[in-house]
Amino acid sequence: MPFATIAKTGIATDGARLPDYARARRSFSWANARTQLAGLPGGALNIAHEALDRHLTTDLADKLALRIIGRDDAVQDFTYRRLAQESSRFADLLVRLGVRRGERVFTLLGRQAPLYVTALGTLKAGAVFSPLFAAFGPEPVLARVGKGDGRVLVTTEALYERKVAPVRAQLPGLRHVLLDGGCGPRAPAGALDFEAELARSAPDFAIVPTRPDDMALLHFTSGTTGKPKGAVHVHEAVVAHHITGQYALDLHADDVFWCTADPGWVTGTSYGIIAPLTNGATLIVDAAEFDAERWLRILQDQKVSVWYTAPTAIRMLMKLGVEPRRHYDLSHLRFMSSVGEPLNPEAVVWSMEAFGRPFHDNWWQTETGGIMIANYLTMDIRPGSMGKPLPGVEAAIVRRTADGGIVEIAEAGAVGELALRPGWPSMFRAYLDEPERYAKCFAQGWYLTGDLASRDGDGYFWFVGRADDVIKSAGHLIGPFEVESALMEHPAVAEAAAIGMPDPVAGETVKAFIVLKAGRAPDDGLRKEILGHARRRLGPAVAPREIAFRDGLPRTRSGKIMRRLLKARELGLPEGDLSTLESDSR
Ligand code: ATP
Ligand code: MG
Repeated sequence: MPFATIAKTGIATDGARLPDYARARRSFSWANARTQLAGLPGGALNIAHEALDRHLTTDLADKLALRIIGRDDAVQDFTYRRLAQESSRFADLLVRLGVRRGERVFTLLGRQAPLYVTALGTLKAGAVFSPLFAAFGPEPVLARVGKGDGRVLVTTEALYERKVAPVRAQLPGLRHVLLDGGCGPRAPAGALDFEAELARSAPDFAIVPTRPDDMALLHFTSGTTGKPKGAVHVHEAVVAHHITGQYALDLHADDVFWCTADPGWVTGTSYGIIAPLTNGATLIVDAAEFDAERWLRILQDQKVSVWYTAPTAIRMLMKLGVEPRRHYDLSHLRFMSSVGEPLNPEAVVWSMEAFGRPFHDNWWQTETGGIMIANYLTMDIRPGSMGKPLPGVEAAIVRRTADGGIVEIAEAGAVGELALRPGWPSMFRAYLDEPERYAKCFAQGWYLTGDLASRDGDGYFWFVGRADDVIKSAGHLIGPFEVESALMEHPAVAEAAAIGMPDPVAGETVKAFIVLKAGRAPDDGLRKEILGHARRRLGPAVAPREIAFRDGLPRTRSGKIMRRLLKARELGLPEGDLSTLESDSR
C-alpha cells in the first residue's frame, strides 16, 4: 500500500451521524431506519411526501430547500413550502391530464426548476419519474422513452425540435408534451405551456398513497459497458436515500449540500434531489457545466458544507493545477465525497493539500439505488479503498463456480466479484422488460454486481475493475484501476485508462492511454519515463507494455471512462452503443 492511511485526528467529527461504525452496524435495522420517516396513513409511503410535505408542519417549512444557480448566475430560490406547492401543482396537472398511477413521466431538461418540480410532482401523483440528460440526441431519447413507454415528456421547445420531433412518430404512447418556456411557433401540435398549466393547477394536492413497493423511479444505467439498462426503483427506496445521506454523506438539516450530478444519472436523483430534502438540508444546484473557477466560487459563495462530486471533476481540478485553499474561502466546507468511478489514491492525497481535508470515496450503482460502501467522516481513510459497507448492507467477495453456484472468498486481499445480500430498500426491482437479465444478477441469495474487488483484513473494500474491463495477462488478473492509479502518480499524468490488448503469448498485455497535465507535451522521452515509472511501481508483468497520449478520453455523460470504446477502436471492432458518450477525442 503506497499511500499512508489518513487518520481522522484533527478533523472535527462532533455531532457525526455515524459516530461509531461498528456499533451502528450491530444495532442497525431497516425497520428502525424507516421510523425516521413519516409515512402516510394505512402503511403508504411516498418519496415526495418524505422529501417535502411532511416538513411543512415543522420549522423547515420556510427554510431554503433548493437554490438553483443559472448559467447566467441568476439565482432561483425555493423554500420547502414553495417547492411543495409547485410540485403539488404539477401532480394536480398530471391528474387533470388523465395520467394514471405507474405511468411514466420523462424529463429532457437542463438543471432548472421545472426538472425538480416535475420530479417531485410526478412522485406525488403516483406516476413514475424518469429523467434524461438534456444533451441526449434523438436516438437515446427514442430508446429510453420508447422502452419506458413514456406518457408525458417535459422539455423545451428547442430541445423538442432537435431531439424529439425526429422520432416522435415512433412514440405513439407519448400523449402529452409540456414545454418549459412556453409554446412558440415551432411547438408540436397539442403541446402545453408548462408554466401556464402549472399556474392553472391547485397547490394543495392530496399525495397519492403509494405502496412502499410501487414503482417510483426509472433510471437508465450509464452505458459504460454496453447498452443502458432501465433499472426500476420503488417508493420504499426513500428509506435508503435518507439514511445513507446521513451515514455516508453526514447530512444534517443545517447543511448546505451540493451534489454536482445531473438527475439524468442516478446520483443526481438519489442525492441530487431526494436525500438532502428528506434530511431537511439546503440543496444547491448549478445549471452550468463543469468549470473549475466557477465550481470553487460556488463552494465559497454558497458556503457549501457538504460536497458530493465525481472523480472526473476532481481529476480536472488536479489537472489544472488550481490551489483552492489559497484563492477561495472554503472554511464552510466540512465533508467532501466522490462517486462513480474509482477515486485514485493520488486524488485523495491531493485533496488533503488542496482542501485541507480528504475526499471520501463511496461505491454504488444505478441498480443499488443508494450508497452501499463508503468512507465515513469518523473512519480513517485508506486512499484507494472505497471504504466499508453501510450499516444494513452485507457485502462479500465471491467466486462463481462452474455449476452456477457461488463461493464466498474469506481470504484477505483475494480478488473476486463484489456481491451484496439483497434486502436494502433501494434495491432495484427489475430491469425494465429484461426479466432474464435481472434474474442472472442473483445467485444463492446474493446480488452479483459485475464489479471485481477485494477486502483487506480490516474490512476495507478495494475496487479492482469491472468484470468486463479486467485484463488477463500471463496468469495475472490486472485491474485497470491499479495501473491507472500508478500512472497518475507520475507528475506529468493527469488521467489514464488501461485496456487489455490481445497477445499470442501472454493472452493480453496492458496498453494505457494517457492525458497529460496542462503544460506537458508528449514526446518519446516522457513516454519512456512514464513506462519506467509504471514498471518500477507495478512490476513488468502488470505495467503497460505500450502507452499512447491523448488529448482526452471517451466518457459517458456521468463522467465514466469508456474503456470498451478505447478497446473497440484499438482492435477495429464495432463501437457498440454510444448513446451515453459525452466527450470524445481520438
Ligand atoms: P452500465 O451498467 O450501463 O455499463 P455503469 O455501470 O457505468 O453503466 P452506473 O450504474 O452509473 O452505470 O455505474 C455504476 C458502476 O460505476 C459501478 O458498478 C462501478 O463499476 C462504478 N463505480 C461507481 N462508484 C465507484 C467507486 N467509488 N469506485 C469504483 N467504481 C465505482
Ligand atoms: Mg453497471
